[in-house]
Amino acid sequence: MNSQMRDPVTSAFAGPAVVGRLAPSPTGALHLGNARSFLLAWLSVRSRGGRLVLRVEDLDHPKVKPGAADAAIQDLRWLGLDWDEGPDCGGPSAPYVQSERRAYYRAALDGLLSEGLAYPCVCSRRDVADAQSAPHGRDPHTLAYSGTCRGRFRDWAAAAAVLPPPRIPVWRFKTNPGLSVFDDAVLGRRSLDLAAEVGDFAFARDPDGAGYMLACVVDDAAMGVTEVLRGDDLVDATHCQIALQAALGLPRPAYAHVPLVVAEDGRRLAKRHGDTRLSTLREAGISSRRVVGLLAWWSGLAPFGAECSPEDLLDGFSLKRVPRAPAVLDGRAKSLLREAFP
Ligand code: GLU
Repeated sequence: MNSQMRDPVTSAFAGPAVVGRLAPSPTGALHLGNARSFLLAWLSVRSRGGRLVLRVEDLDHPKVKPGAADAAIQDLRWLGLDWDEGPDCGGPSAPYVQSERRAYYRAALDGLLSEGLAYPCVCSRRDVADAQSAPHGRDPHTLAYSGTCRGRFRDWAAAAAVLPPPRIPVWRFKTNPGLSVFDDAVLGRRSLDLAAEVGDFAFARDPDGAGYMLACVVDDAAMGVTEVLRGDDLVDATHCQIALQAALGLPRPAYAHVPLVVAEDGRRLAKRHGDTRLSTLREAGISSRRVVGLLAWWSGLAPFGAECSPEDLLDGFSLKRVPRAPAVLDGRAKSLLREAFP
């Protein structure tokens, strides 16, 4: 259907199909911070009549918790979000659980290896730090990798052989000098010299390439995703993902990164700031309409104290209304959750 045709059922003009995704990691329960990003991802797509995919990102082995994927699905449904494809409802790109998609990541890894664009690395964090001539990286915790293991090992097995178990190598991508640039729907133009600031980035700690960075790129393409909306802690990861897309000949979706929810100390929400898990709020007797109202107030979409469903927010939704500053779990916000923050 081209952009000038009317949909025969709704008689609305149908633009190019927007496809978004909700990609929870079952490493813990959904809390207010994740919930806000998921609500905005849903609104952005549904307000334009688009389709949504739910994908479970369960490759982070040590941190994945049994039952957390089902709990995330339950929490998202409780909030009032829905999707057209996912592990609970199937769809043309099944399976929707990353641990069941390893063959796709292996194929992508083989593609990178055949082009000489990936190599296994055995450096520890300490090795990476020691190889720095000067403090580097945009974030003091992020160290640019100097490429010590480039060309060092024939293959993964050769690299693994020099490490004492249980340590295993990591796959790195060979970056090229030059600016990586993309236009973010919330943050505007973003640019980063990936080679200088990050270096050859790690994309999977797994022999078959089954790690977040590569899997995300492979799955976004395989599932036809045209828009990625997520927390702004992943802005730098986007530059890495764009580099992988270019190397693999995959299309680049549009990106939107929204500020995280932070506590009054300015730090991202953590246990010490109180229990903001959706399951806890629900068990305390707080309605999903009140929670969605809080998320909407934080996002410039509803007045303070509103109670609403995600659908109530569709009319007039625009990412332009979302403040660029982080949402803060302050006294006012907590007063809306008084049963959980007495
Ligand atoms: N699975 C990630 C999370 O739950 C999101 C990654 C992404 O959206 O690309 O934080």
